Amino acid sequence: MEITPTYVKKMDCLHCKEKFTTTKIRSRFVRVTKHESDFKPIYTDPSINPILYNAAVCPSCGFAFTDDFSSYFAPGVKDEIANKITSLWNGRSFGDERSTDEGIEAYKLALVSATVKKEKPLTMAGIALRIAWLYDDLKDFESGKRFRAVSRNLYTEAYSNGDHAGTQMSETRVLYLIAELSHQVGDKEEAIRNFSRVIESQRTSTDPQVIQMAKERWQEIREQG
Ligand SMILES: [Zn+2]
Repeated sequence: MEITPTYVKKMDCLHCKEKFTTTKIRSRFVRVTKHESDFKPIYTDPSINPILYNAAVCPSCGFAFTDDFSSYFAPGVKDEIANKITSLWNGRSFGDERSTDEGIEAYKLALVSATVKKEKPLTMAGIALRIAWLYDDLKDFESGKRFRAVSRNLYTEAYSNGDHAGTQMSETRVLYLIAELSHQVGDKEEAIRNFSRVIESQRTSTDPQVIQMAKERWQEIREQG
């Protein structure tokens, strides 16, 4: 049997517990050529893009989630999901292979679900950034910029909350993203302020690669005047 890049993964809805399937990409097929300055991976074969499949959408209740969602639902949240998400849900399936548009829709449902569930701003910031990347792939740079601004504000909130503690994200990386996204949305002051904070943290940081990136970006921005 030929092994395909995609496979079908069985899921249990985090909210209603119904079983459904979602498509994933086998990691052995994923080749990254390089990363952009906001860590966006550029894939060698653009048709094999795992970013399209990070958000699972439950066809029964409409709740959408990523691996970063916590399994905890605060009191009252289940009722809010029923009122604000499930009551409006049309039962659509996102389980097959996705176009870029469908990838964006799935992430937007995850962003709404995260907001209603009160997920950490760090989780929501990552979703908003991925929406921005997918809009870039569609050459819709205006929408890309809009979601970068959303992501930047959420990373700023995440930084003040200390959301990164215990996650894969270092403090240096969160500050770097605040700086880089500020630069991309034209907020030069916040960009310079936060690139400086990244560079100042170099003696205590565990992420020397990101410090180096910040130094290069800070230099480039200064040269642009
Ligand atoms: Zn569900």
